Amino acid sequence: MSTEQLTVQNILRGLPSIDELVRQLMTHSDMAEAGLARVTEFARLSVDSLRSEVIAGSVTDQDLARLAEDRAVKMWLRTRQERLRRVINATGVVIHTNLGRAPLSESARRAIVESSGYCTVEYDLEAGGRGHRGTYVEDLIADVCGTEAAIVVNNCAAAAFLVLTVLASDGEVIISRGELVEIGGDFRVPDVLKATGAQLREVGTTNRTKITDYEHACGENTRMILRVHPSNYRIVGFTASPSIRAMADLARRKNVVLFEDIGSGALLGLGDEPVPSESLSDGADLVAFSGDKLLGGPQSGIIAGRRDLIDKIRKHPMYRVLRVDKLIYAALGATLESYTAGNAEREIPVLQMINCSREEIVERAVRFAGRIKKLNMGISASVCDGNSVIGGGSAPDIHPPTSLIAISHAELSADRIESALRRATPPVISRIENNLVLIDLRTVANDEEDLLFNAIAESFSPFSRQSPA
Ligand SMILES: *Cc1c(COP(=O)(O)O)cnc(C)c1O
Repeated sequence: MSTEQLTVQNILRGLPSIDELVRQLMTHSDMAEAGLARVTEFARLSVDSLRSEVIAGSVTDQDLARLAEDRAVKMWLRTRQERLRRVINATGVVIHTNLGRAPLSESARRAIVESSGYCTVEYDLEAGGRGHRGTYVEDLIADVCGTEAAIVVNNCAAAAFLVLTVLASDGEVIISRGELVEIGGDFRVPDVLKATGAQLREVGTTNRTKITDYEHACGENTRMILRVHPSNYRIVGFTASPSIRAMADLARRKNVVLFEDIGSGALLGLGDEPVPSESLSDGADLVAFSGDKLLGGPQSGIIAGRRDLIDKIRKHPMYRVLRVDKLIYAALGATLESYTAGNAEREIPVLQMINCSREEIVERAVRFAGRIKKLNMGISASVCDGNSVIGGGSAPDIHPPTSLIAISHAELSADRIESALRRATPPVISRIENNLVLIDLRTVANDEEDLLFNAIAESFSPFSRQSPA
């Protein structure tokens, strides 16, 4: 054996056995919630990785027992960080898909808690037996959409999938080339639609599609005319697409269904977002939209329109596959009650945030920046003009004017500050522009300001040179 191999052998002797390490870890306070099986798993991972590093020569004569323990604890803590955690959204992106889209209203949150035990999701208290699932919420939706019937599934992609599966999988669906869009990183409308078995018949061009294009494409196998709202982008300039009325007229003459995938669910309208009740009154047979975009509720996909078609959808086995659970009915019902009571703009966080005036945000931002300066931690906080973002692929051309707090520190880069904020309790998600960390209070609720303030103080405390007074 060479001396090098001998040294490696010697160092390896310092590695603890799995049993020893597990015994040690079980007494560690940070591992309290891990349980024996997971502690053993992390002990093994830690020892295995150390062994490879010793053999590779990257770890030498250190205290391997200590190193193995620290490493196992770190691995566990990192795993725990991956649990869902509450964050403060200081990005100014109201419907932030990575952060859970719409924050729920107070009453929706209460409704979730109340229904989280046993509840009447499928029970009729009058009859004392099995009841209909979702009837109450479906009636609320039909009401706010001014239509006959509605049904709820997991999300809007599921809604579109279900409508095509039930009504068009044995035939053709006509769609404009300008509407074959990708919405968010993982959802391409045509991919979902093709998975139903329906044949997509593309008509028109990217920027212009005329009613005659649809008409010429209608044949014996046509089941549906589909319109998809291009949500996250706009083609501007030389464009054309027929009105819903004209398309409804054609669909009626050809005896096919007109279905519109609206996406955002702006029940009260916003910019040029389609309003479900308007599409339906203009003649769409069915519309589908998300529950957690502009509607401001939980993740869900809503289909509303003609009762005979909704009934058909309800009877299809795929509906059973895509249905939602009691917590979603609870939260969606409470959210919709705000609309039917005429209180949506006051009670639904997404709408409050979008409607919050620049003046109000300026006032909050100035006050908040003043508090940060008073911390005396070397943080500079200046207030400047900017724009918020609606997000969630909705209303891409609306940028509400806002007031931003730019945070900087003489000795810290913007990246360093942004990452420290992300590691605070609770984590704060900010954005960086022109080398400045920006905080937009539009997406921070009033009652979150103290949490945000404390998180900022926590993030900067390791860098603060303030001498104890
Ligand atoms: C967002 C969007 C979808 C997808 O909605 P999910 O609820 O996320 O499944 C589908 N269609 C359109 C037009 C959209 O804007």
